[in-house]
Amino acid sequence: MLDCAIIGGGPAGLTAGLYTTRGGLENVTMFEKGMPGGQITQSSEIENYPGVTGEITGMDLMIPWPEQCQKFGLKHAMVEVKRVSKEGDVFKIHKGDGTVEEAHSVIIGTGSSPRRAGFTGEDEFFGKGVSTCATCDGFFYKGKEVAVVGGGDTALEEALYLAKICAKVYLIHRRDTFRSAPNTVARIKRTENIELVLNSVPEEVYGDKMGVTGIRVKNNAGETRDITVPGVFTFVGNDVNNQTLIQEDGSFLCEMTKSGEVIVDISMKTSVPGLFATGDMRIAAPKQVVSAAGDGAVAALQAISYVDELLNH
Ligand code: FAD
Ligand code: NAP
Repeated sequence: MLDCAIIGGGPAGLTAGLYTTRGGLENVTMFEKGMPGGQITQSSEIENYPGVTGEITGMDLMIPWPEQCQKFGLKHAMVEVKRVSKEGDVFKIHKGDGTVEEAHSVIIGTGSSPRRAGFTGEDEFFGKGVSTCATCDGFFYKGKEVAVVGGGDTALEEALYLAKICAKVYLIHRRDTFRSAPNTVARIKRTENIELVLNSVPEEVYGDKMGVTGIRVKNNAGETRDITVPGVFTFVGNDVNNQTLIQEDGSFLCEMTKSGEVIVDISMKTSVPGLFATGDMRIAAPKQVVSAAGDGAVAALQAISYVDELLNH
Protein backbone atom coordinates (compact mmCIF):
# COMPACT_ATOMS: atom_id res chain seq x y z
CA MET A 1 0.00 0.00 0.00
CA LEU A 2 1.40 3.39 -1.02
CA ASP A 3 1.40 6.24 1.49
CA CYS A 4 0.73 8.57 -1.41
CA ALA A 5 0.07 8.10 -5.12
CA ILE A 6 0.90 11.12 -7.27
CA ILE A 7 -0.85 11.17 -10.63
CA GLY A 8 0.97 13.29 -13.22
CA GLY A 9 4.61 14.33 -13.37
CA GLY A 10 4.42 18.01 -14.36
CA PRO A 11 5.61 20.85 -12.09
CA ALA A 12 2.72 20.13 -9.65
CA GLY A 13 3.28 16.37 -9.41
CA LEU A 14 7.06 16.62 -9.22
CA THR A 15 6.92 19.21 -6.43
CA ALA A 16 4.39 17.05 -4.57
CA GLY A 17 6.86 14.18 -4.98
CA LEU A 18 9.71 16.24 -3.55
CA TYR A 19 7.76 17.47 -0.53
CA THR A 20 6.04 14.17 0.36
CA THR A 21 9.27 12.14 0.28
CA ARG A 22 11.45 14.78 1.89
CA GLY A 23 8.68 15.36 4.46
CA GLY A 24 8.80 11.76 5.63
CA LEU A 25 6.33 9.68 3.62
CA GLU A 26 8.15 6.40 2.94
CA ASN A 27 6.30 4.88 0.06
CA VAL A 28 5.40 7.38 -2.66
CA THR A 29 5.03 6.65 -6.38
CA MET A 30 4.50 9.22 -9.13
CA PHE A 31 2.50 7.81 -12.03
CA GLU A 32 3.46 9.68 -15.21
CA LYS A 33 2.53 8.31 -18.62
CA GLY A 34 5.45 9.99 -20.44
CA MET A 35 8.68 11.71 -19.56
CA PRO A 36 8.32 13.81 -16.39
CA GLY A 37 8.26 17.60 -16.82
CA GLY A 38 4.74 18.35 -18.09
CA GLN A 39 3.57 20.73 -20.78
CA ILE A 40 6.19 23.40 -20.08
CA THR A 41 8.76 21.11 -21.75
CA GLN A 42 7.08 22.15 -25.03
CA SER A 43 7.84 25.82 -24.42
CA SER A 44 10.70 27.42 -26.29
CA GLU A 45 11.35 29.96 -23.56
CA ILE A 46 10.38 30.60 -19.96
CA GLU A 47 11.27 33.93 -18.44
CA ASN A 48 8.96 34.12 -15.41
CA TYR A 49 10.17 31.31 -13.17
CA PRO A 50 11.62 33.08 -10.10
CA GLY A 51 15.37 33.04 -9.81
CA VAL A 52 15.96 31.73 -13.30
CA THR A 53 17.46 34.49 -15.42
CA GLY A 54 18.69 34.39 -18.99
CA GLU A 55 17.17 32.46 -21.87
CA ILE A 56 16.07 28.99 -20.85
CA THR A 57 13.74 26.50 -22.55
CA GLY A 58 10.97 24.72 -20.66
CA MET A 59 12.85 21.45 -21.13
CA ASP A 60 16.04 22.90 -19.61
CA LEU A 61 14.05 24.15 -16.62
CA MET A 62 12.46 20.78 -15.92
CA ILE A 63 15.37 18.36 -16.49
CA PRO A 64 16.75 18.52 -12.89
CA TRP A 65 13.35 18.15 -11.17
CA PRO A 66 12.95 14.32 -11.33
CA GLU A 67 16.55 13.77 -10.22
CA GLN A 68 16.01 15.99 -7.19
CA CYS A 69 12.91 13.97 -6.21
CA GLN A 70 14.58 10.60 -6.71
CA LYS A 71 17.28 11.65 -4.24
CA PHE A 72 14.61 11.61 -1.51
CA GLY A 73 13.08 8.31 -2.61
CA LEU A 74 10.28 9.19 -5.03
CA LYS A 75 9.51 6.26 -7.32
CA HIS A 76 8.37 6.88 -10.89
CA ALA A 77 6.01 4.47 -12.66
CA MET A 78 5.86 5.25 -16.38
CA VAL A 79 2.27 4.23 -16.91
CA GLU A 80 -1.03 5.92 -17.75
CA VAL A 81 -3.58 5.97 -14.95
CA LYS A 82 -7.06 5.18 -16.24
CA ARG A 83 -9.09 5.84 -13.11
CA VAL A 84 -8.79 6.71 -9.42
CA SER A 85 -11.51 5.36 -7.13
CA LYS A 86 -11.96 5.04 -3.38
CA GLU A 87 -13.31 2.16 -1.28
CA GLY A 88 -13.55 2.97 2.43
CA ASP A 89 -10.25 4.66 3.32
CA VAL A 90 -8.37 3.05 0.43
CA PHE A 91 -7.73 4.69 -2.94
CA LYS A 92 -7.42 2.39 -5.96
CA ILE A 93 -5.18 3.45 -8.84
CA HIS A 94 -6.39 1.65 -11.98
CA LYS A 95 -3.47 1.57 -14.37
CA GLY A 96 -3.38 1.29 -18.14
CA ASP A 97 -1.73 -2.14 -17.91
CA GLY A 98 -4.85 -3.49 -16.15
CA THR A 99 -3.33 -3.73 -12.67
CA VAL A 100 -4.46 -1.80 -9.61
CA GLU A 101 -2.38 -0.20 -6.85
CA GLU A 102 -3.66 0.95 -3.48
CA ALA A 103 -2.82 4.17 -1.64
CA HIS A 104 -3.72 5.95 1.58
CA SER A 105 -3.72 9.34 -0.19
CA VAL A 106 -3.69 10.72 -3.74
CA ILE A 107 -2.32 13.97 -5.16
CA ILE A 108 -3.55 14.50 -8.68
CA GLY A 109 -1.92 16.92 -11.12
CA THR A 110 -2.74 15.72 -14.61
CA GLY A 111 -2.69 19.24 -16.04
CA SER A 112 -4.28 20.25 -19.29
CA SER A 113 -3.95 19.54 -23.02
CA PRO A 114 -4.05 21.74 -26.15
CA ARG A 115 -7.55 22.41 -27.47
CA ARG A 116 -8.49 22.02 -31.13
CA ALA A 117 -9.63 25.26 -32.85
CA GLY A 118 -12.32 23.45 -34.84
CA PHE A 119 -11.66 24.49 -38.46
CA THR A 120 -11.99 22.20 -41.47
CA GLY A 121 -8.84 20.15 -42.14
CA GLU A 122 -7.46 20.59 -38.60
CA ASP A 123 -7.76 16.89 -37.71
CA GLU A 124 -6.95 15.63 -41.23
CA PHE A 125 -3.66 17.54 -41.33
CA PHE A 126 -2.74 17.20 -37.65
CA GLY A 127 0.90 16.07 -37.64
CA LYS A 128 1.12 16.77 -41.37
CA GLY A 129 1.45 20.54 -41.20
CA VAL A 130 -0.91 21.36 -38.33
CA SER A 131 0.86 21.40 -34.95
CA THR A 132 0.39 22.54 -31.36
CA CYS A 133 4.10 22.57 -30.52
CA ALA A 134 6.50 25.13 -31.99
CA THR A 135 9.55 23.78 -30.16
CA CYS A 136 8.84 20.30 -31.52
CA ASP A 137 7.94 21.18 -35.11
CA GLY A 138 9.15 24.75 -35.77
CA PHE A 139 12.48 23.62 -37.21
CA PHE A 140 10.70 21.82 -40.10
CA TYR A 141 9.74 25.28 -41.38
CA LYS A 142 13.18 26.93 -41.18
CA GLY A 143 13.28 29.74 -43.74
CA LYS A 144 9.61 29.18 -44.70
CA GLU A 145 6.38 31.04 -43.91
CA VAL A 146 3.98 29.72 -41.23
CA ALA A 147 0.66 30.69 -39.66
CA VAL A 148 -0.10 30.86 -35.93
CA VAL A 149 -3.70 30.80 -34.68
CA GLY A 150 -4.61 32.31 -31.28
CA GLY A 151 -4.22 35.49 -29.26
CA GLY A 152 -3.16 34.36 -25.78
CA ASP A 153 0.27 34.15 -24.10
CA THR A 154 1.07 30.83 -25.72
CA ALA A 155 0.23 31.94 -29.29
CA LEU A 156 2.21 35.17 -28.96
CA GLU A 157 5.25 33.63 -27.30
CA GLU A 158 5.38 30.79 -29.81
CA ALA A 159 4.89 33.26 -32.71
CA LEU A 160 7.97 35.14 -31.45
CA TYR A 161 9.91 31.87 -31.30
CA LEU A 162 8.84 30.88 -34.82
CA ALA A 163 9.71 34.34 -36.16
CA LYS A 164 13.36 33.62 -35.28
CA ILE A 165 13.38 30.43 -37.38
CA CYS A 166 10.89 31.15 -40.15
CA ALA A 167 10.89 33.70 -42.97
CA LYS A 168 7.52 35.07 -41.89
CA VAL A 169 4.76 34.38 -39.34
CA TYR A 170 1.08 35.24 -39.98
CA LEU A 171 -0.53 35.67 -36.55
CA ILE A 172 -4.24 35.00 -36.98
CA HIS A 173 -6.48 36.16 -34.13
CA ARG A 174 -10.25 36.47 -33.95
CA ARG A 175 -10.20 39.87 -32.17
CA ASP A 176 -8.05 43.01 -32.41
CA THR A 177 -6.74 42.86 -28.84
CA PHE A 178 -4.72 40.09 -27.26
CA ARG A 179 -5.16 38.04 -24.09
CA SER A 180 -1.46 38.30 -23.27
CA ALA A 181 1.13 40.16 -21.19
CA PRO A 182 1.65 43.77 -22.47
CA ASN A 183 5.40 43.16 -22.78
CA THR A 184 4.76 40.19 -25.09
CA VAL A 185 2.28 42.17 -27.21
CA ALA A 186 4.88 44.95 -27.57
CA ARG A 187 7.50 42.43 -28.74
CA ILE A 188 5.04 41.04 -31.31
CA LYS A 189 4.31 44.51 -32.67
CA ARG A 190 7.97 45.37 -33.18
CA THR A 191 8.91 42.07 -34.84
CA GLU A 192 9.15 42.88 -38.53
CA ASN A 193 8.47 39.40 -39.93
CA ILE A 194 5.21 38.91 -37.98
CA GLU A 195 2.10 40.02 -39.90
CA LEU A 196 -1.02 40.45 -37.78
CA VAL A 197 -4.17 39.01 -39.36
CA LEU A 198 -6.75 40.33 -36.89
CA ASN A 199 -10.52 40.00 -36.55
CA SER A 200 -10.14 36.80 -38.55
CA VAL A 201 -10.86 33.12 -37.96
CA PRO A 202 -9.48 30.13 -39.83
CA GLU A 203 -12.08 28.53 -42.10
CA GLU A 204 -10.03 25.75 -43.56
CA VAL A 205 -6.55 24.30 -43.74
CA TYR A 206 -5.95 22.54 -47.03
CA GLY A 207 -3.19 20.67 -48.75
CA ASP A 208 -2.20 17.55 -50.63
CA LYS A 209 -0.63 14.15 -49.93
CA MET A 210 2.60 15.88 -48.88
CA GLY A 211 0.85 18.02 -46.23
CA VAL A 212 -0.52 21.52 -45.71
CA THR A 213 -0.26 24.07 -48.53
CA GLY A 214 -2.40 26.89 -47.13
CA ILE A 215 -5.00 28.29 -44.76
CA ARG A 216 -8.17 30.21 -45.64
CA VAL A 217 -9.28 32.84 -43.12
CA LYS A 218 -12.45 34.89 -42.94
CA ASN A 219 -12.57 38.34 -41.34
CA ASN A 220 -15.41 40.08 -39.50
CA ALA A 221 -16.55 41.73 -42.75
CA GLY A 222 -17.04 38.29 -44.30
CA GLU A 223 -14.05 38.57 -46.65
CA THR A 224 -11.87 35.51 -47.14
CA ARG A 225 -8.13 35.40 -47.70
CA ASP A 226 -5.89 32.51 -48.71
CA ILE A 227 -2.46 32.44 -47.07
CA THR A 228 0.07 30.07 -48.66
CA VAL A 229 1.94 28.29 -45.84
CA PRO A 230 3.20 24.71 -45.29
CA GLY A 231 2.74 24.94 -41.50
CA VAL A 232 -0.11 26.03 -39.20
CA PHE A 233 0.40 26.22 -35.43
CA THR A 234 -2.71 26.43 -33.24
CA PHE A 235 -2.58 27.76 -29.66
CA VAL A 236 -6.20 28.29 -28.67
CA GLY A 237 -6.16 27.27 -25.01
CA ASN A 238 -6.30 24.04 -23.08
CA ASP A 239 -8.77 21.51 -21.71
CA VAL A 240 -8.38 20.11 -18.19
CA ASN A 241 -7.27 16.46 -18.04
CA ASN A 242 -9.87 15.17 -15.57
CA GLN A 243 -10.55 11.76 -17.13
CA THR A 244 -8.96 9.76 -14.31
CA LEU A 245 -11.57 11.10 -11.88
CA ILE A 246 -14.51 9.71 -13.90
CA GLN A 247 -16.03 6.70 -12.17
CA GLU A 248 -17.60 3.60 -13.75
CA ASP A 249 -21.08 5.13 -13.48
CA GLY A 250 -19.94 8.33 -15.26
CA SER A 251 -19.91 10.52 -12.14
CA PHE A 252 -16.77 12.30 -10.89
CA LEU A 253 -14.97 11.04 -7.78
CA CYS A 254 -15.04 14.54 -6.28
CA GLU A 255 -16.84 17.85 -6.78
CA MET A 256 -16.03 19.64 -10.04
CA THR A 257 -16.93 22.93 -11.71
CA LYS A 258 -19.24 22.91 -14.74
CA SER A 259 -16.20 23.41 -16.97
CA GLY A 260 -14.48 20.33 -15.53
CA GLU A 261 -11.98 21.79 -13.07
CA VAL A 262 -11.53 20.16 -9.67
CA ILE A 263 -12.94 22.20 -6.79
CA VAL A 264 -10.36 22.60 -4.02
CA ASP A 265 -9.92 24.79 -0.96
CA ILE A 266 -6.73 26.77 -0.31
CA SER A 267 -5.11 23.58 1.06
CA MET A 268 -5.73 21.80 -2.28
CA LYS A 269 -8.23 19.52 -0.48
CA THR A 270 -11.01 18.19 -2.70
CA SER A 271 -14.43 17.10 -1.45
CA VAL A 272 -12.99 13.58 -0.88
CA PRO A 273 -10.77 13.18 2.23
CA GLY A 274 -7.21 12.22 1.26
CA LEU A 275 -7.59 13.39 -2.37
CA PHE A 276 -5.76 16.60 -3.31
CA ALA A 277 -5.81 18.35 -6.70
CA THR A 278 -3.06 20.64 -7.96
CA GLY A 279 -1.86 22.78 -10.86
CA ASP A 280 -3.71 23.55 -14.08
CA MET A 281 -6.57 21.14 -13.34
CA ARG A 282 -7.85 22.85 -10.20
CA ILE A 283 -10.39 25.64 -9.97
CA ALA A 284 -9.06 29.19 -10.57
CA ALA A 285 -5.59 27.94 -11.49
CA PRO A 286 -3.25 30.75 -12.58
CA LYS A 287 -1.82 28.20 -15.05
CA GLN A 288 1.79 28.94 -14.29
CA VAL A 289 4.72 26.67 -13.49
CA VAL A 290 5.40 28.49 -10.24
CA SER A 291 1.79 28.19 -9.03
CA ALA A 292 1.57 24.53 -10.05
CA ALA A 293 4.75 23.87 -8.06
CA GLY A 294 3.29 25.81 -5.12
CA ASP A 295 0.11 23.72 -5.24
CA GLY A 296 2.22 20.55 -5.21
CA ALA A 297 4.02 21.67 -2.05
CA VAL A 298 0.78 22.65 -0.28
CA ALA A 299 -0.92 19.35 -1.22
CA ALA A 300 2.10 17.33 -0.10
CA LEU A 301 2.14 18.91 3.36
CA GLN A 302 -1.59 18.22 3.67
CA ALA A 303 -1.16 14.62 2.49
CA ILE A 304 1.55 14.03 5.11
CA SER A 305 -0.82 15.22 7.89
CA TYR A 306 -3.72 13.20 6.44
CA VAL A 307 -1.74 9.95 6.33
CA ASP A 308 -0.33 10.53 9.82
CA GLU A 309 -3.85 11.12 11.17
CA LEU A 310 -5.21 8.06 9.32
CA LEU A 311 -2.53 5.64 10.50
CA ASN A 312 -1.60 6.92 13.96
CA HIS A 313 -4.74 8.35 15.54
P1 FAD B 1 1.16 19.65 -16.69
O1 FAD B 1 2.40 20.42 -16.91
O2 FAD B 1 0.13 19.62 -17.77
O3 FAD B 1 1.59 18.16 -16.33
C1 FAD B 1 0.65 17.12 -16.21
C2 FAD B 1 1.36 15.80 -16.41
O4 FAD B 1 0.42 14.75 -16.15
C3 FAD B 1 1.86 15.58 -17.82
O5 FAD B 1 3.25 15.27 -17.78
C4 FAD B 1 1.03 14.42 -18.36
O6 FAD B 1 1.76 13.55 -19.22
C5 FAD B 1 0.62 13.70 -17.08
N1 FAD B 1 -0.64 12.96 -17.20
C6 FAD B 1 -1.83 13.44 -17.69
N2 FAD B 1 -2.77 12.48 -17.61
C7 FAD B 1 -2.15 11.38 -17.08
C8 FAD B 1 -2.61 10.06 -16.77
N3 FAD B 1 -3.88 9.71 -16.97
N4 FAD B 1 -1.73 9.18 -16.26
C9 FAD B 1 -0.43 9.54 -16.04
N5 FAD B 1 0.06 10.76 -16.32
C10 FAD B 1 -0.80 11.67 -16.83
N6 FAD B 1 3.79 28.77 -17.52
C11 FAD B 1 4.65 29.68 -16.99
O7 FAD B 1 4.69 29.85 -15.77
N7 FAD B 1 5.49 30.39 -17.78
C12 FAD B 1 5.56 30.20 -19.11
O8 FAD B 1 6.33 30.87 -19.79
C13 FAD B 1 4.70 29.25 -19.69
N8 FAD B 1 4.76 28.99 -21.02
C14 FAD B 1 4.00 28.00 -21.55
C15 FAD B 1 4.17 27.68 -22.88
C16 FAD B 1 3.47 26.65 -23.46
C17 FAD B 1 3.68 26.30 -24.91
C18 FAD B 1 2.52 25.94 -22.67
C19 FAD B 1 1.73 24.82 -23.30
C20 FAD B 1 2.34 26.27 -21.34
C21 FAD B 1 3.07 27.28 -20.75
N9 FAD B 1 2.95 27.63 -19.41
C22 FAD B 1 3.80 28.55 -18.85
C23 FAD B 1 1.94 26.98 -18.52
C24 FAD B 1 2.60 25.82 -17.70
O9 FAD B 1 3.28 24.93 -18.56
C25 FAD B 1 1.52 25.07 -16.92
O10 FAD B 1 0.80 25.97 -16.12
C26 FAD B 1 2.13 23.99 -16.01
O11 FAD B 1 2.93 23.08 -16.74
C27 FAD B 1 1.04 23.19 -15.30
O12 FAD B 1 1.65 22.18 -14.54
P2 FAD B 1 0.82 20.90 -14.05
O13 FAD B 1 1.80 20.08 -13.29
O14 FAD B 1 -0.44 21.30 -13.43
O15 FAD B 1 0.39 20.13 -15.39
P1 NAP C 1 -5.76 31.30 -23.57
O1 NAP C 1 -5.20 32.35 -22.69
O2 NAP C 1 -7.04 30.63 -23.22
O3 NAP C 1 -5.87 31.96 -25.03
C1 NAP C 1 -6.45 31.25 -26.08
C2 NAP C 1 -6.50 32.16 -27.30
O4 NAP C 1 -7.04 31.42 -28.41
C3 NAP C 1 -7.40 33.38 -27.07
O5 NAP C 1 -6.79 34.51 -27.65
C4 NAP C 1 -8.69 32.99 -27.79
O6 NAP C 1 -9.34 34.10 -28.36
C5 NAP C 1 -8.19 32.10 -28.91
N1 NAP C 1 -9.16 31.07 -29.29
C6 NAP C 1 -9.83 30.22 -28.48
N2 NAP C 1 -10.59 29.37 -29.20
C7 NAP C 1 -10.40 29.70 -30.49
C8 NAP C 1 -10.90 29.17 -31.72
N3 NAP C 1 -11.74 28.13 -31.74
N4 NAP C 1 -10.50 29.74 -32.88
C9 NAP C 1 -9.64 30.78 -32.87
N5 NAP C 1 -9.11 31.33 -31.74
C10 NAP C 1 -9.49 30.78 -30.56
O7 NAP C 1 -4.71 30.07 -23.78
P2 NAP C 1 -3.10 30.06 -23.73
O8 NAP C 1 -2.53 31.17 -24.49
O9 NAP C 1 -2.70 28.66 -24.09
O10 NAP C 1 -2.78 30.27 -22.19
C11 NAP C 1 -3.33 29.35 -21.22
C12 NAP C 1 -2.89 29.78 -19.83
O11 NAP C 1 -1.47 29.58 -19.68
C13 NAP C 1 -3.17 31.27 -19.59
O12 NAP C 1 -3.58 31.43 -18.28
C14 NAP C 1 -1.83 31.92 -19.83
O13 NAP C 1 -1.67 33.12 -19.14
C15 NAP C 1 -0.85 30.80 -19.34
N6 NAP C 1 0.43 30.96 -20.02
C16 NAP C 1 1.27 31.84 -19.45
C17 NAP C 1 2.46 32.10 -20.07
C18 NAP C 1 3.38 33.06 -19.41
O14 NAP C 1 3.16 33.40 -18.26
N7 NAP C 1 4.43 33.56 -20.04
C19 NAP C 1 2.78 31.50 -21.28
C20 NAP C 1 1.86 30.63 -21.86
C21 NAP C 1 0.66 30.37 -21.21
P3 NAP C 1 -10.02 35.22 -27.41
O15 NAP C 1 -8.88 36.05 -26.88
O16 NAP C 1 -10.90 35.97 -28.36
O17 NAP C 1 -10.76 34.47 -26.35
